[in-house]
Amino acid sequence: MNHKGIYLLAVAAVVLVPFTLFLRTFSASPLPNPKPYEGPIPSAAPPKEMAVVAVVTGVNHRVAAFGYRGGSFFERRDFSMAGTLVKHPQGDLLIDTGFGRNLDQQFRTLPVMFRAITFYSLWQPAADQLAAAGYDLKSLHAILLTHSHWDHVSGLPDFPGIPVWVTAQEHEFIRQSGPMDFCKLFSDIRYEEYGFEGGSYLGFPASHDVYGDGSIVVVPAPGHTPGSVIIFVTLPNGTRYAFVGDLVYQLEGITLREERSWFVRRMGADVDAAGNRENLLRMIALKQRLPELIIVPAHDMRAFAEMPKLSQAKQ
Ligand SMILES: [Zn+2]
Ligand SMILES: [Zn+2]
Repeated sequence: MNHKGIYLLAVAAVVLVPFTLFLRTFSASPLPNPKPYEGPIPSAAPPKEMAVVAVVTGVNHRVAAFGYRGGSFFERRDFSMAGTLVKHPQGDLLIDTGFGRNLDQQFRTLPVMFRAITFYSLWQPAADQLAAAGYDLKSLHAILLTHSHWDHVSGLPDFPGIPVWVTAQEHEFIRQSGPMDFCKLFSDIRYEEYGFEGGSYLGFPASHDVYGDGSIVVVPAPGHTPGSVIIFVTLPNGTRYAFVGDLVYQLEGITLREERSWFVRRMGADVDAAGNRENLLRMIALKQRLPELIIVPAHDMRAFAEMPKLSQAKQ
């Protein structure tokens, strides 16, 4: 082989091999199928006034490959950036805020690599949507975070005085001011910690029954962040939701048992991939037992499209 040939081979080794390995982390690699959940199905007594309402505040323009391993680079997916209003006579809860009024300013504080591959559209912040719908903020008891990443907390300053419920682990994570967190930009947020005083629930080791009627039950699901949670909501008609935050970005994470790729985990700043996998397998096992369970990943627009909208909800 002449010098040119050796040179080309070296370039191929240095450039192509890492690139091929990098692409392989996006290829399909389903997790082993767990046994269906076999434990008890707890009963709930949801008050008849309860409802869930989608509050989609904007989208992140992504591709399916960013959502789950095996997803195509050529299939465009608009990831929802959303909150969910859970109406309950003892006090409504807003699960995450989605994008807030100051998103453009806040966004400039995120890592430059992340900004370079992130293109969003802010539609209307949750606080403005609620005001436009004639919603009385006095009914809003608290904001319940699935976790504290930027796209879930951006709207917190738009709700002055409303307590923000977090686990002790997530509160500590907020204090550490990670690169994907906006909370460090906010003053005067009233964080209130809650614990998991309840026993195991649908395969998760502990639980917090918010109003004691089984209608809104929070379980720990650490991995994506140290204090990530899943919120189960049961409506009077028996409909059961699981708001899983960023356990998966897209529903295929559950239906195809596909995790995020290595690269996306780095970008999305998963703190504990093994912990996230353990909780993902719990959800997959539960979905096999309860096929009617509606799983709502925070960034899956299809899940929010199925939910009632503010315009349809009684205020
Ligand atoms: Zn996140
Ligand atoms: Zn997120």
